[in-house]
Amino acid sequence: MVESWLGSLKGSAGEAKQRAAEDAAQRKAEGRRKGGIILNQKDVLTGSWDASKVLFTTIGGQLRPITADDLAAFRRNIASAQSQTGRFSKGITAKQVIDWSAGIVNGTQAALNGGQKSDLDRAKKEITMAVPTYAQNSADGRSAKVRFITNAGPDSDVSRHHVLVEFMNYGPEAASGLTEPRKAAMRLRQGPLKIECDCGRWRYWFRYLATIGGYNAGRAETGFPKIRNPKLQGIACKHIVRVMAEVQSGGATLGFLTKLMDKAKSSDEAKAVLRHKQAEAEKIIKNQAKRTTGNDIKTSEQKRLERSAKNAANAAKQAGKPQREKAMSKKISGKSPDEREAALRSAMAVFGAVPTAKQIRDVRNA
Ligand SMILES: [Zn+2]
Repeated sequence: MVESWLGSLKGSAGEAKQRAAEDAAQRKAEGRRKGGIILNQKDVLTGSWDASKVLFTTIGGQLRPITADDLAAFRRNIASAQSQTGRFSKGITAKQVIDWSAGIVNGTQAALNGGQKSDLDRAKKEITMAVPTYAQNSADGRSAKVRFITNAGPDSDVSRHHVLVEFMNYGPEAASGLTEPRKAAMRLRQGPLKIECDCGRWRYWFRYLATIGGYNAGRAETGFPKIRNPKLQGIACKHIVRVMAEVQSGGATLGFLTKLMDKAKSSDEAKAVLRHKQAEAEKIIKNQAKRTTGNDIKTSEQKRLERSAKNAANAAKQAGKPQREKAMSKKISGKSPDEREAALRSAMAVFGAVPTAKQIRDVRNA
């Protein structure tokens, strides 16, 4: 049964909130614990911390205590990550998450941590379904948060993950009377977003990066990921990458956002709350489970290559068109429809052919 991982939508928001609360509580306790292992901003900057705190890193490849040189390297990595992700301070787009998760940064392929599979590769293979379940505008009405549920990967200890996506352009789109809901939804899904997932990879690899990059939708993380991601590589986990693919081009997600915009535009205060019913969500993942091509997630570069291959194929096809058709199209000219039809007939007569009804219609309307 494909729905088995989805579970009940009723209570799913509660589950997401509970996981977030547990995460926040654990983090808080670790930050306060004597000898706790959080490397905070001041530690990175000054290199002086309580002697009871013994901190390790994996930056050279092996787990070992942090040295002054490591701190210098962390500072360089923070500066570099901030200059790269600084552009996301007003949100990141679905397209950018997909491109960056393939390891492509500024148009070039960056090396991935230890030659591991990229989060994009993992999303394509392991996270094949994602469904929006709940949406609500923020208190100030500027943005809207949409909750998604995805299936979990094969080695996970849970059956589903909760991904939160904040659509930063909700307010202006909801308040505008210039676009109908579907067009507003289409713009919304291409616009800036903030993101969050409840998985361990987001927590230990990316939450810090998203916090300093300004695209984090949930709890801020100020502890440097010295063990898991000291080089600050990547952008988001496989669950988020799958959700980004659905935001970018999924029909069910577009339908959900269209309904949300419709509600928002019908409301006096541009407010909207939208909930998917269990049956609707199950229908969506049933369709997603059946698809054979939709699981592919394409980066901008792949799309560009496909477009240019298609253009080249079209050009070759044009070049291969029979000479007589080309010659004919040149000859057909005339002021009146009758004159043009006569010109077409005589041009085709040279080849012993007669024009079809469509060809006559076209030339008369030319
Ligand atoms: Zn995740």
